[in-house]
Amino acid sequence: MLMVKEKSRRATARKTPKKSSKTAKKSRKLTLQPRLIILFAAIPAVTVLCFALISYLFQPRVTPADDPTDTKYYFASSKYKDITSKFVERKSSFEQTSIEYPITKNKKINQTIAATIDEKDAEFRELLGARPSQLTEPFTNLTSYQVSHNSDDFLSITVSIKQDTHGAHPANYSRFWTFDKHTGEVVTLKNLLGDSTENLSRISQLIQQKATEIVHKKDENYAVDPIPDEQLTNFTAVENTITLPYEPGSIAVYAAGDITVSIDVAEIADYLQNDTARKIFDVPKPAPPAKPTLKPAATPTNTGNCNDKCIALTFDDGPSAHTSRLLDTLDKYNAKATFFVVGEKVAARQDILQRQIARGHQIGNHSWGHPDLTKLSTENIQNELARTNDAIKAATGRAPTVMRPPYGAINQNVSQQLRANGMSAILWSVDTRDWADRDSQIVCTRAVSNARSGAIILFHDIHPTSVDAIPCVLDALTKQGYAFVTIDTLFGGGTQPGRTYFSAL
Ligand code: ZN
Repeated sequence: MLMVKEKSRRATARKTPKKSSKTAKKSRKLTLQPRLIILFAAIPAVTVLCFALISYLFQPRVTPADDPTDTKYYFASSKYKDITSKFVERKSSFEQTSIEYPITKNKKINQTIAATIDEKDAEFRELLGARPSQLTEPFTNLTSYQVSHNSDDFLSITVSIKQDTHGAHPANYSRFWTFDKHTGEVVTLKNLLGDSTENLSRISQLIQQKATEIVHKKDENYAVDPIPDEQLTNFTAVENTITLPYEPGSIAVYAAGDITVSIDVAEIADYLQNDTARKIFDVPKPAPPAKPTLKPAATPTNTGNCNDKCIALTFDDGPSAHTSRLLDTLDKYNAKATFFVVGEKVAARQDILQRQIARGHQIGNHSWGHPDLTKLSTENIQNELARTNDAIKAATGRAPTVMRPPYGAINQNVSQQLRANGMSAILWSVDTRDWADRDSQIVCTRAVSNARSGAIILFHDIHPTSVDAIPCVLDALTKQGYAFVTIDTLFGGGTQPGRTYFSAL
């Protein structure tokens, strides 16, 4: 029985493995297929993952220093006499740099310019080192130069540096010099003005004023502060002008952009009567002394006693309906002022002009119809001056000797016409901008906070808000010990024909 059992078990046993091996074969076939599919599918997936990993691990860590930069140096002749250009170019996926250095025959000049360029390049490279990895566009640094004056003795050169490091805005730098080619020294504005600090301060006001005109053409709300000392050293000679190509942000807000101030040498010839200026520019001879016949009889009422603290208040664009009220205020404070009247307005208000003269004020010419005189022909400039002088003379019995060109716009031609008429140009050192801010408090604050002895302050007596500001101005400045005088008194009894005045600082 046991044997049978045994047999049968064996039989079962023999049968069973047979059966089970068949099933195993079948099931192996079934499991191998999905595995292969998974395996074949995994290879590209893993590969992709590996690439992703590699690029994840390596890409952000690649710094500009690891990236092969193609750097080239070469020399090329320039279009300027005796100047060669040295080019340095660096190109990689991170940066595109092209720097053109001027190489003159004077080592010191070359070093001064290269030091400036290299300093800006070092800043650029520093930004490059800290470049955010997600940026794909290369940083760019394009540096080039321009020569505007290249005589045997002097060289004027402007370096323009344009860097785009994808920051808030591309950086544009402008660096400029006039060099003495023999010594390699930089000629400063002060040198050009006969080493006179006084002249420099006057030119500084002219620069501020010209820069203000430029920025106002872009936006009337832009202002130019007094020019900082570090911006009052270098200049370039461009034809017969002193040119100052200020970079954005250096003398006004960045948004005002480049501000290139040009001063015609003839316009400030009186300040340039020295050897340095004559070697660089064609400086006209000094103005001949004023002919006494061209001057009015002494104005006995202009007897302001200054005690070294004098201010000239000036009012443009009148006479107006508000001028009479202004005259009352000035009388209360015993303040004398100068009125630059518009010729075409004079006939209708001759009584106002007569009262101005009777009260010891001065009257000046502000043109006939308020045009920009620099845009007129010589004949039309002469016409604007003469018609207005005639109108003032008809009203008061005397012709004016001072003129304020509308918008402060003056050039060599206007200066020459003024000289021919025995007149000087009176600009200003403090602009209250009362035409923009019709707010008495703002106008008063501007006048008072910028007032200095010798200042010429600009107002317009056509705005009631300006007239309303005057008691505040006179109160504050009287307390500070200032006297208010006419232009003639401010300049010690008269001004010189053909000359331009900004202040008596
Ligand atoms: Zn005006």
